[in-house]
Amino acid sequence: MLIFVSFFLLSQLVIIFFSSMLQRSYTDKSIEEKLLSVQNQCSILGNQILVYKFTIETSQDNLSAEIDQLANSWQGRILVIDPKYQIVKDTYTIDQGNYMVYDEVFRIMRGEKDRNIRMLDDYAEIIVPIVNADKVIHGAMIATVSLQDIVDTNEHIATQVRVLHVLFSLLSLIAAFIISKISVRGIEKLSGQLSELSEGHLDNININVYFDELTELTDSYNALIDKMRVTEESRQEFVSNVSHELKTPITSMKVLADSLLMQEDVPSEMYREFMSDMVEEIDRETKIINDLLTLVKTDKKSAELNIEPVNINALLELLLKRIKPLAAKRNIEVVFESFREVIAEIDEVKLSLAFSNLIENAVKYNNDGGNVHVSLNADHKFFYVKVQDNGVGIPEECQAQIFERFYRVDKARSRETGGTGLGLAITRNAILMHKGAIKLYSEPGEGTTFTVRIPLKRVS
Ligand code: ADP
Repeated sequence: MLIFVSFFLLSQLVIIFFSSMLQRSYTDKSIEEKLLSVQNQCSILGNQILVYKFTIETSQDNLSAEIDQLANSWQGRILVIDPKYQIVKDTYTIDQGNYMVYDEVFRIMRGEKDRNIRMLDDYAEIIVPIVNADKVIHGAMIATVSLQDIVDTNEHIATQVRVLHVLFSLLSLIAAFIISKISVRGIEKLSGQLSELSEGHLDNININVYFDELTELTDSYNALIDKMRVTEESRQEFVSNVSHELKTPITSMKVLADSLLMQEDVPSEMYREFMSDMVEEIDRETKIINDLLTLVKTDKKSAELNIEPVNINALLELLLKRIKPLAAKRNIEVVFESFREVIAEIDEVKLSLAFSNLIENAVKYNNDGGNVHVSLNADHKFFYVKVQDNGVGIPEECQAQIFERFYRVDKARSRETGGTGLGLAITRNAILMHKGAIKLYSEPGEGTTFTVRIPLKRVS
């Protein structure tokens, strides 16, 4: 509506401006032409007056009639004034013989001006000198000319302009309607599709529009929708994974419990065995739930971090001390190498979790008798932790998904070692919360290296 009204008003303004300008310039030009022709005719007449020595006494009938005729043709009046300011000819005869006391006539006679024009409603008055061949002024003529013909023509043109105005207004009304329709059509389509979006349909917007701005807008919306779709898909996948993971231990427990119930006089050893299996499943369920809760906590913004200066050497040593007994059982050697003392501003709980996941994995996915090498270094901005093992490695095609929730390369092995598939997702979240980065290099059969980079000072 706004586009329609503004376009219409604008076109009206343009039409009014141009038509009034046109009319005015036409009027000015016609008056100018008319006055010029009057002036010319007056000077011709002036010549004749001088040639025939026209005076009030020697009134020449022929010339006098000619003057009358000329005045008539102009629907006006001509006064001829001699050098003594006496009116020797008045086509109205009223003032003939009288003396002219008119300031402008004095000026003309004195040669101060070569013409004087005065506009009066429908008339124009023009005063010109009568000059001889030697440019000496021998009197003046006052011609009053009717401009009625110009006024009439002007009115005629005005009527035509009005008709044209109405016609152009109609045209601009139609144009305004079409333009507003075209420009609004894209927006209407866009808002229609956007309201569908808010109802939950994540379809891409597709509108044929003629405006670059709208195309850009739809492109950015489509990019946003694509992103939302990916998020939605990963959310759905996550929910189905969570349900599946939580269901597995419960199904096992039900099978165990059912088989106990179905048998009569269950031997106590069997009863104990089944019950301990069930406890294992419960522990597994608890671990999944705990990992899920941790994941949710590390999914939040970095504002949730509990930052304090922490000695990273001490932190890693403590983690390694905890893992060593587990590694020793499988004859895996765990070595820590520190290149310098590092104090960094971090959330100790969250980063401990991240590093312990990496170190635990290096042990879990290692071969018996293998090695785990953990090193710590720093520069003026970051500290770097490297966890290197010579274990099973990760195939190239799995490396991109390794940080995704519930993703495991070898499901059976992960399950055997009590893995939930959430460890690396938690690790990556915790590192990203610290504005850090994690990278992975792995060769199947050779081993895996994770490198972590964390800023020494908190980055907000
Ligand atoms: P999980 O609880 O299964 O260990 P993670 O998220 O910690 O889950 O790891 C995901 C998967 O990545 C693991 O199941 C394993 O297949 C693979 N993985 C992680 N760390 C290593 C490693 N150091 N060596 C080989 N494979 C690894």
